[in-house]
Amino acid sequence: MKRRIFTSIFFASLLTLILTFAFVSAILYNNAATSIKREVRNESIYISEAIKSYNENTIDISSYLNSAGAKSLNRITLISSDGTVTYDNFAQIQTMDNHSARPEFIDAMKTGQGEITRFSDTLGESTYYYALKLDNNDVLRIASTTKSILGIVTESIVWFILIFIFIILISLLIARLLTKAVVKPINKLDLDNPLSNDTYEELSPLLLRMEKQKKEIKTRMDELTKTRDDFNFITDNMSEGLVIFSEKGYVLASNKSANKILGISQKQYYLESCRDSSYIELIESSLNGKPHTAKINRSGYTYQLFASPVKEESKNFATVLFITDITEKDQAEQRRKEFSANVSHELKTPLTSILGYAELISKEIAKKEDIPRFGELIHREAARLLQVIEDIIKLSKLDEADLIKEFEDVRLDELCLTVINDLKQKALGYKVKCSFEGQKTIIKGYFPILYEMIYNLCDNAIVYNKAEGSVILTLEKNDNKAVLTVADTGIGIPQEHLPRVFERFYRVDKSHSKDTGGTGLGLSIVKHAASLHDAKIDISSKINKGTKISISFNIN
Ligand code: ADP
Repeated sequence: MKRRIFTSIFFASLLTLILTFAFVSAILYNNAATSIKREVRNESIYISEAIKSYNENTIDISSYLNSAGAKSLNRITLISSDGTVTYDNFAQIQTMDNHSARPEFIDAMKTGQGEITRFSDTLGESTYYYALKLDNNDVLRIASTTKSILGIVTESIVWFILIFIFIILISLLIARLLTKAVVKPINKLDLDNPLSNDTYEELSPLLLRMEKQKKEIKTRMDELTKTRDDFNFITDNMSEGLVIFSEKGYVLASNKSANKILGISQKQYYLESCRDSSYIELIESSLNGKPHTAKINRSGYTYQLFASPVKEESKNFATVLFITDITEKDQAEQRRKEFSANVSHELKTPLTSILGYAELISKEIAKKEDIPRFGELIHREAARLLQVIEDIIKLSKLDEADLIKEFEDVRLDELCLTVINDLKQKALGYKVKCSFEGQKTIIKGYFPILYEMIYNLCDNAIVYNKAEGSVILTLEKNDNKAVLTVADTGIGIPQEHLPRVFERFYRVDKSHSKDTGGTGLGLSIVKHAASLHDAKIDISSKINKGTKISISFNIN
C-alpha cells in the first residue's frame, strides 16, 4: 500500500509540476510574443509617419530608410502597390520576388493593415510580419524574428533537462514526505482495540467492522474452546482409550487412557508406541481402509482394540482407534470355562463310582457280603453329587438373581445361634464345642444367603478342626460396622493357599476335603454372599493352631 501511495503521489506531483512549468512557460512566451507584436506595430507607425512627412515635403526618403533600417533590429520592407519591393534593410531588393501574393500584403491593401506569423521548422524561428498601407498606396512591412517554442526548447535543452531532474527530485521528496504522513496514522492503529483509535474519519467504518468481527471471532473462539475443553474433559475421563491417527499413521490426538495403556504421545508414529503384532496388524489394516479388531495384553490387563478408517469419497484420511479394558470380562470368561470344566469333573467322579458299584451289583459280580458296603458307597457318592449340585444352584442364584430387592432386617445374633443349633449334632460327632458371644445386631440382608454363609463358615470350622477343639462365633459392633468372626482351633490353612481358598472348587487337601464331604464351593458361596451384602472378608490362619475368618457388615 505504501508503495502504491508513494507512486501515486509521485506521479501526481510530477505531472502537476510539469504542467505548471509548461503553462507558466506558455504564458511567458505568449506575453513576449504580444509585446514583440506591439513593438513592431509601434515601429511601423513611427516609420509610416516619418515616410508620410517626407513624402509631403517631397524629400527623398531613401536616406531616412537606410538610416532607420540600419539601426533597427527588425526587418523593414517597403512594397509598392503592385507588389514590387522598393526597399529592404536585410536583402538586396533585386533578388526579392514580387510580394503581391503575400497574405499580409493582400490584407493591408484591402483593410489598411495585415499581419501573419510564419514558422521556420529548420531554424526553430518564428517571424511576425506586420504590413501597413501608406497614404501613397505603398505598403510598409516590418518583421520581427524570434525563437519559436521548439527553438527555445532545442536551444535550452540542457536547462530543460536540469529543470526536469529538479522537478523529479522535488516530486520524489514530496511523495516521500506525503506518503510518510499518510501512512503514519495507519501504522499506529491499535488493531487490538479498533475503537480506541483517533485516526482518519474514512477508516471509521472499517474500524467498526473490525471491532464487530473481533467480537464475533472472540465469541466463536470461546465457543470452540469450550467445545474443545468439554470434548477433552469427556475423552480424558473416559476409561476407554481413544486415538486418532493421520492417514500416514502419526498420532493426531489421544486421550489420557490411551496414553496410559499404549504409552502413546502426540505426533508419535504408530510403530513407536506398541510392538504387539496384533496391534500393528490392526492399525495397518485400518490405514489401508479396512476396519479391524484385535485383543492385546499389556501390563497384566487385556484390551479389546477396534480400529476404523475415516473416509471421505473413498479417500482414507484418518484412523480412529478405540480401546476397552476387557480384563474382567476376559477373566470372567476364563473362570466360566474353568468352572464348566470343574463342574463336569466334580459331577463325573461320583457318577463314575456310582455306575461302577451299581454295575458290580446288577451283574452279580459283587460278593454278597460286599453288597451292603457298595450300597453304602453308592449312597455316599450320590449324596456328594447332590451336595455339589445344590451348591452350584446356590452359586448360580447368587450370580443371577437380583437379591437386593429381597433384603430385610436380619438379627445376626439370632442367626448365629440358629446355625450353632443346626450343627450341634455334627459338632458332637467331631467332638468340637461351639459357642457364641455377642449382642443384638440387626443388618439389612437376605436371610437364606446369610444363613448359608454362617453355616458354611461354622461347618468348615467344625470339619477342619481337631477332636476336643472349639469353634467360637463372636459378633462385635464398632462405628457403623458389625463384625462376625468364626474362629476355630483346627488344622489351619497354609499361607500360600489363603488367597485361593475362596475360588470355586479350590481345596487345600483334596482327599481330606472329600472325606469331610466338602465340595470346594463353601467359601466361594461365602465370598459371593459377602459381596452381595457389601461386606468385607478377612482371613488369617496358622497351621495346627486354627483359622479365623471375619466378615464386616455395614450397619445402616
Ligand atoms: P470344602 O467344601 O472343601 O470345605 P470350601 O470352599 O468350604 O470347600 O473350603 C475350601 C478349602 O479351604 C477346603 O477344602 C479346606 O481345605 C480349606 N478350609 C476352609 N475352611 C477351613 C478351616 N476353617 N480350617 C482349615 N481349612 C479350611
